[in-house]
Amino acid sequence: MLNKKTFKIKGMHCASCAQIIESKLKKIDGINKIAVNFATEKVAVEFDSEKSSLEKMNQEISKLGYRFEIDNKEDNSNKDKIQNLKLLFVIPVGLLTFSLKIRDLLALIWPKIPSIPIQTKHWDLILMFTSLLVIILVGRPFLKGIINFVKFRVANMDTLIGLGTMTAFLYSTIIILFPAIKIKLNLPNQVYFDTVIGIIAFVTLGKYLESRSKAKTGETIKKLLGLQAKTALVQRNGKEIEIPMNQVILGDIVIIKPGMKIPIDGLIIEGSSSIDESMISGESMPIDKKVGDKVFGATINKQGSFLFKANKIGDKTLLSQIIKIVEEAQGSKAPIQSLADKISGIFVPVVLVIAILSFLVWLIIGQNLTFAILSLVGVLVIACPCALGLATPTAITVGVGRGAENGILIKNAESLERLSKVDIVVMDKTGTLTKGEPKVTDIVVLDKNFDEEKLLKYAASVEKLSEHPLAQTIVKEAKDRNIELLKCSDFLNKEGIGVQGKVNNKKVIISKSEQKNNKLASQGKTVVDIKINNKLVGQIAMSDVVKDEALETIEKLHQKGLKVIMITGDNQQAANFVADQLGINEVIAGVLPWEKAEKIKELQEKGHKVVMVGDGINDAPPLVQSDVGIAMATGSDIAIESAGITILGGDIKKLPQAIELAKATILIVKQNLFWAFIYNTIGVPLASGIFYPIFGIFLNPIFAGMAMAVSSVSVVGNSLRLKVKRIK
Ligand code: ADP
Ligand code: MG
Repeated sequence: MLNKKTFKIKGMHCASCAQIIESKLKKIDGINKIAVNFATEKVAVEFDSEKSSLEKMNQEISKLGYRFEIDNKEDNSNKDKIQNLKLLFVIPVGLLTFSLKIRDLLALIWPKIPSIPIQTKHWDLILMFTSLLVIILVGRPFLKGIINFVKFRVANMDTLIGLGTMTAFLYSTIIILFPAIKIKLNLPNQVYFDTVIGIIAFVTLGKYLESRSKAKTGETIKKLLGLQAKTALVQRNGKEIEIPMNQVILGDIVIIKPGMKIPIDGLIIEGSSSIDESMISGESMPIDKKVGDKVFGATINKQGSFLFKANKIGDKTLLSQIIKIVEEAQGSKAPIQSLADKISGIFVPVVLVIAILSFLVWLIIGQNLTFAILSLVGVLVIACPCALGLATPTAITVGVGRGAENGILIKNAESLERLSKVDIVVMDKTGTLTKGEPKVTDIVVLDKNFDEEKLLKYAASVEKLSEHPLAQTIVKEAKDRNIELLKCSDFLNKEGIGVQGKVNNKKVIISKSEQKNNKLASQGKTVVDIKINNKLVGQIAMSDVVKDEALETIEKLHQKGLKVIMITGDNQQAANFVADQLGINEVIAGVLPWEKAEKIKELQEKGHKVVMVGDGINDAPPLVQSDVGIAMATGSDIAIESAGITILGGDIKKLPQAIELAKATILIVKQNLFWAFIYNTIGVPLASGIFYPIFGIFLNPIFAGMAMAVSSVSVVGNSLRLKVKRIK
């Protein structure tokens, strides 16, 4: 059986770790798909549960120092404490050594700088022991990096740092402890203990800052989980009792009093109130709810009180679904990342080769052992696959989270990336631009055996089996007139055309009016024909009003330079009527769902990137065909398969915001990638000493360590800017 699971990964230090884990597990039988996300430190695996399991996966990767864990969403405070202690030790020591180093370097230019007040012949020995202490207490991940490299031939950033610092340490130790060798080989009296301490301190600090800010990028999930109520007040055996959430069962009658948090999803059966749904839909205005309306867990009741019947529990609730979608999307990969992935996959071996090459060049051609060592250590330490690996996922994580907080549910990173590139917005009419709650305006009887009531009775008896907004309108009108509905058999839904069924042994067809130049249609109404036994017996006209925010939204889209096209299965006249109100000057009317898809394909063939916005009910073909499909969700059905993005609450204002968010996110990704590339392409040659013969600059490896730490921290910091950026 195919299983899809997300695990937390322990022991992951850098982007190349992600590559190592992926390539190791891909080779195992029974594992279908695997996506490691370095930013969230999570892995999504699709595996055959008969052939593989969590234990088996762990067997493979534990040798390399990694472990998958069931994500229990609790942070590991003990581990945090140890980490903090390490920092408390290494940071002061590092800063002290670093300032002494700076002093020495300054003294070269300005000899009058005061020297260190402590006079000792054993300065080098003190530094040697201090760096040994630093290596043992704080530098263990780097040693492990070397061991893994030797044992399993896998190398990550830790391997680079480990090799760099250990080279410096061992070389310096030999100079100090074996003066005979030094004299024999005519080595300069130069040691690098301060470099070892400085590098380890900076890299450890960098990692700490990075993990702290990485945690910030993923805060949305935590926030969403925190929204969940702990208990629910329910009626059981005629009594009011408070029970923990996991004991609520389907059908429980839940009691809501003023100001209470709604614990779970359900339908109101008594009372009414207005409810703040902002935490879920991002809509700040409270929404009025009455008997029959849906309520959702985690939203907050205002003044009224009511009873509702729980109809979704556990992972079926809207909130749980939102969390699942956000989690999956944050873990997914944007296409733009693939280049960075390829590079970080070969990054470590390439850097190793460059480091050894520059060592050899300095040694053999340059005849300079000091520079040879400095360049080896510097290149190993400055090269940073982290910045590259963090560039995309951190921005995507923040972007997806920011969306979710605003009622914009992004299913995957790819949709976000595609949305950032669109130039045409195609919008469905019914339910997207209009409220999707049409009212019956006219009933035309064309057969003397029928009257309005009888016509409605037949029509509504069939339509009650359809989900289309028009169908619901007809059913509602019949109910309002207290018409009793009949049983319908042989129901058939013809997407974009209408419905048919057998009522009272008569064939009833309700469909798009075939009449040209209909008077009602010219008034902007949607007209359907009702045929009984293939004879036209009447027509029902309905009209829908445009959404309050539609005009403003279309204006915003135009301002952003996007072209807006309205597409509808409705007649041209009704379509034009709506388009005119909204300032939309391109209308495609009278098309069937698959023709909508074809129209979109035509636009794409002209080189356009198209976003299709629909209600997700009967717009599946165009949603799938478009570059990105956006579904307007009104109810709790948010996992709309055909759409890459779902806008909650059917709030059309969110559409320009979604586009803006996508653009902002991808811009950050590009900036991050740019800086990460630039950093490495300048940093590595700089550390190798290639510029020395020209400019006379040779980077001290201590600064390489600092630069490396700064590079990955700044990438994450840049992504975090998305959290506060104004999205209009
Ligand atoms: P839109 O593109 O505006 O969402 P649809 O493609 O859903 O419209 O439907 C196109 C037309 O088909 C409607 O305007 C209506 O005339 C007819 N139609 C579709 N479904 C039904 C239905 N259940 N009952 C009556 N008419 C329907
Ligand atoms: Mg529609």
